[in-house]
Amino acid sequence: MKKEFDVLVIGAGPGGYTAAIRAAQLGGKVAIIEKQDLGGTCLNKGCIPTKALIASVHTLHCLKKAEEFGIIAKNVKIDFSAIMTRKERIVKRLRTGIKNLLKSYHIEVIKGQAYFVSPSTIKIEDKTLDIKKCIIATGSVISEMLGIKIDGQNIITSNDVIELEQIPSSLLIVGGGVIGLEFACIFQGLGSKVTIAEALSSILSSEDREISKALKSILAKRGMDIKTKTTVKEINLKDGKVEVVLNSGENIEKILVEKVVITIGRKPQINNLGLENAGIFCEDGRIVVNNKMETNIKGIYAIGDVIGGPFLAHKASAEGIVAAENALGRQTLIDYRAIPRCIFTIPEIASVGISEEEARKKGYKVAIGKFPFMVNGKAITTGDTTGFVKVVVDRETNAILGIHILGLQATELITQASLAIRLGCTINELNRIIYPHPTLSEAIWEAAQDVYQKAIDLP
Ligand code: FAD
Repeated sequence: MKKEFDVLVIGAGPGGYTAAIRAAQLGGKVAIIEKQDLGGTCLNKGCIPTKALIASVHTLHCLKKAEEFGIIAKNVKIDFSAIMTRKERIVKRLRTGIKNLLKSYHIEVIKGQAYFVSPSTIKIEDKTLDIKKCIIATGSVISEMLGIKIDGQNIITSNDVIELEQIPSSLLIVGGGVIGLEFACIFQGLGSKVTIAEALSSILSSEDREISKALKSILAKRGMDIKTKTTVKEINLKDGKVEVVLNSGENIEKILVEKVVITIGRKPQINNLGLENAGIFCEDGRIVVNNKMETNIKGIYAIGDVIGGPFLAHKASAEGIVAAENALGRQTLIDYRAIPRCIFTIPEIASVGISEEEARKKGYKVAIGKFPFMVNGKAITTGDTTGFVKVVVDRETNAILGIHILGLQATELITQASLAIRLGCTINELNRIIYPHPTLSEAIWEAAQDVYQKAIDLP
């Protein structure tokens, strides 16, 4: 007898498994279809493996400056295979966690590739299932670079980097976006000579210009070679290495590296799904949805990377909750007002809302407040005073338009900024919040003070 489900979820990444759980919490009989591993890109090839590697680099940094803290840590060595084993152990542990979670909600996991035969039927290999409600959460795939062949050995992608067996002596990262920069910091931290080639005039081009410029200068001081307005003209294998011809407009330069990592972006996974058989509308390479996450076909929803950027796990999960609630009869609308963006470089960057440039372009009368970690007591005790907090405010309404942080724990600090923006807190209200001392968070309060008066701890 054919099994019947209230909700079929395609893809078990952070979008899909969150949607499945919320649908089950609301009483639905749910199945989730996954062709690879539970956890999707985020757990298996993205957020988690990269953050496990960055944690090892952080530990190395701490050990290198241990003496400053009165700790003697001599003969510090890197065991790269142990770093990779640790990363794999963390991924496996979390994958098991998702498996158990789905089981606890009686969600059936179906292994295989889902394919729409019609708006009301899905095929998974030799099985067919009737659709009552369906949530598409198939994520994204790596964008290819025209004319460059990925060989998985010398010319690689983010999927290959997290499986490397040795630390490359040198690597060129093509693309100075979030993923490229995180890998750049990991491998520079482990001792590789890192070059970045970015076609645009700045790295992290969608972040506040002051923040991305500050990061560039910190990384350059550490010896990273960051070439902006530079494209790859040619790549050739030469004696086991890669010769790359770079074009910066004025200059043509040849460099020889051990590996080239292509991180030019990702695109929604809309192929091999039979979307055309279901009549699901796509535009600009992504599935189009309304603010209930519903596609043009009633009862079929889409969430996460497959509907387009920003490609963030927490955006996918938030959309998953909205889709699941609507599939089970609620009327929930997505709210994109305060999506935090976290970049796990060393130092970290985190932001929410819009940049100063964007605010000016939109015609706001902008007021800015800033505070450096250099004079923050807690930062001084940790020995890391890099970076600053920047607050962007609309002078006419006092609304907080954006908060941008460069520095230690920025990715943890940003949640309070999201909360402030999401709740429509004005700058005057933020100024009146009592912050605990000594904390890194005080830098947010000081930056807020700095918008109209002056930060207390600045001369
Ligand atoms: P995915 O996680 O991609 O999951 C989609 C799933 O669908 C996959 O498991 C796939 O196998 C499955 N699937 C696809 N087609 C079918 C089919 N036809 N049938 C069955 N199953 C199918 N985001 C952050 O927020 N923070 C970070 O720190 C971060 N770091 C990243 C680092 C890297 C190197 C990369 C590559 C990405 C990173 N991301 C990060 C982005 C994040 O991974 C994605 O935004 C997130 O995984 C999107 O979730 P999703 O559920 O939409 O899709």
